[in-house]
Amino acid sequence: MVLHIPHYLRDLNPRQQEAALAIEGPVLVLAGAGSGKTRTLVLRIAHLLRSGVDAQRVLAVTFTNRAAGEMRERVATVVGRDAKGVTLSTFHSLGVRILRDSGELIGLPKDFSIYATADQLALVRRVMTEEVHVTATAGDDRYDAKRVLHEISRWKNQLMSPAEANTEVAEGRMRHNRSDDYAVLAAAVYERYEESLRAAGACDFDDLLLLPVSLLRQHAEARERLWRRWHYIMVDEYQDTNGAQLELARLLAGPRQNLCVVGDDDQSIYAWRGADLRNILDFERHFPGARVVILEENYRSTQRILDAANAVIANNAARKAKRMHTGNGLGPKVDYWEFGGNGPRSSEEEEAEMVARETGVRRFHEKLAWNDFAILYRTNLQSRPLEEALRAANIPYRVVGGTSYFDRKEIADLVAYLRVVINARDEVSLRRIVNYPTRGVGRTTLLRLVEAARARGETVWETFRGVDAIEGVTGPQAAAVLRFVNLIEQAKKGLAQVDAAREEQPNTGWPIEAWVRGFVADVKLEDAVRSENASERVAQIRLENIRDFVASVGTYEGRTWSEQPLPDEETEWTAPTLTGFLERVSLIGEPEERSRNEEDPEDDRVTLLTLHSAKGLEFTHVFLVGMEEEILPHARSITEVTERPELDPLAEERRLFYVGITRARHRLTLSGCRTRKRGGEPVPRQPSRFLKEIPPELMEIRSSGTGSS
Ligand code: ATP
Ligand code: MG
Repeated sequence: MVLHIPHYLRDLNPRQQEAALAIEGPVLVLAGAGSGKTRTLVLRIAHLLRSGVDAQRVLAVTFTNRAAGEMRERVATVVGRDAKGVTLSTFHSLGVRILRDSGELIGLPKDFSIYATADQLALVRRVMTEEVHVTATAGDDRYDAKRVLHEISRWKNQLMSPAEANTEVAEGRMRHNRSDDYAVLAAAVYERYEESLRAAGACDFDDLLLLPVSLLRQHAEARERLWRRWHYIMVDEYQDTNGAQLELARLLAGPRQNLCVVGDDDQSIYAWRGADLRNILDFERHFPGARVVILEENYRSTQRILDAANAVIANNAARKAKRMHTGNGLGPKVDYWEFGGNGPRSSEEEEAEMVARETGVRRFHEKLAWNDFAILYRTNLQSRPLEEALRAANIPYRVVGGTSYFDRKEIADLVAYLRVVINARDEVSLRRIVNYPTRGVGRTTLLRLVEAARARGETVWETFRGVDAIEGVTGPQAAAVLRFVNLIEQAKKGLAQVDAAREEQPNTGWPIEAWVRGFVADVKLEDAVRSENASERVAQIRLENIRDFVASVGTYEGRTWSEQPLPDEETEWTAPTLTGFLERVSLIGEPEERSRNEEDPEDDRVTLLTLHSAKGLEFTHVFLVGMEEEILPHARSITEVTERPELDPLAEERRLFYVGITRARHRLTLSGCRTRKRGGEPVPRQPSRFLKEIPPELMEIRSSGTGSS
């Protein structure tokens, strides 16, 4: 049978075409890096639209905002304006959307707060001290809030309730050989942590997946609404889905089963956050009758880079063996640079300077753009010396990820204020700001009020409002609480007026930005920053952060208006709101979602990013620094043991290395140091064990500082 292949699919190979043309029923595209999985998805969307499917019926889910944005652009270049109606979203944004729409069915208020990691930790600590009555002491890691939270998150990602977590603990089925005490604590905290979240009208990041699943499981009308909305669903990077994401995909696919997923089991790098490789390996079991398409040609990299990647990943035991080939040329050898550091400077500075220098030289000789270069590393902390070297060499760069918005205290404070105005039940935020700036509400008073709230079964905010009736609170203290209550209530009124004015006269100006600016002044946040920062310079930076943040509200408003989708009876959330803004901040503020997407994409800069956030991207030149034991593989992965081979942390580090290698199109440069300064002293380092897994004939080794260069 000779199929007529539409012209826009002619740039795909026959297997890719098969996947793009199979629009009905479940489809799995399982293939190695750079084989055109994402490209196939993009052209599949184009094909759907060209075949007359309404763009509104198409949903594509990716893992980062950046990937979603890139996909949108690529679809638009093929089909033009029609691409606008397609929903391109991350799993978490999709979750928010579902919850804003029908979360009330499971008791979630419309304006729920989204807690970032710092808020979650505050809540875990509070539950530990106030309700479970254990407090962390130095040297006793059973009581580390971060580990408690990690455990809770793992349970949630597997859709396990507190009761089920308790059972797991009781049966001693913990994944790691951790002490039982510790697991018991995490399970006890989990239950109360959930209660507190619900009482606060708040969600954490995991809830953005978990709650939509329980909502859709329980409510047929919510399910059917989504089935009416989206008829064709696609998921990129499917190997990194966890249990909740699998279930969400299953629920969204519904009876139509038009679900197409693409992924590479060798690039699964989120097991530590609950991703489950079995989701992709067992796809045919989860979705019977699935068509499976295997792609084997790599279009991205030169032969030597691909050979290196193949050789490295072949060392992993639990994998579906596949071998990629490429029609691209042999290309240069993989560089490995080793820095000795015998001189007065630390070798990591040498490493960074060499990367910067070489970037400039190659850009000049090969007539490339800065955008063609990426510098990858295992952890965000490694970016500092690189940034210094790039600055010294006058090379423009961008850091993807890095410091979160919420790591800045002044931003976290301001966000807490805004959340309380929207949702005064949000206790974590309320307690953060009630006495900041200082307004005479002492710690004892606050604890007394919290206790009273618990005893009366009301929210802390309600107790604040009725503070006069609470015993043991002095007159001046009560007056201070009431001043705070008044401040928030005035702000609520002001915001309501902004909303009302918008109803009457939509699409004019930036009223939310103006309101936020006024509110910041009313709160006297800037005075507080000025008075608490000894150094003028630090204070200036913080004030600027606040101003930037306020200005970004306006950017959001402007963009939301210009993004107005086509008329669509089922699209809500189109008008900009403060809730919408905070949502965006939360979704972009979390790890791996933090691409600076405010940035002009044409902006020509070298990209600095972690291996995790490099997933799915490609660059002509890739530098991968810090090829040393305890960096890559990460120290934690060397010491941890596990019984389940698919959870082997070393194998996951190897996949991470494989992801890094396969980002390079033309040239890959690895580097490492023999010594690094720790606390001013040079400490000897061992080369990464993964270097030995690359066949020597593929490598070009250079060392410096040892007399051999
Ligand atoms: P990853 O696993 O890293 O996400 P991928 O499988 O999604 O990779 P893509 O990013 O879609 O791969 O494609 C890799 C590169 O190969 C891109 O530059 C893409 O444009 C190119 N490419 C893919 N398919 C073809 C093809 N049939 N002909 C020419 N170029 C192609
Ligand atoms: Mg891809």
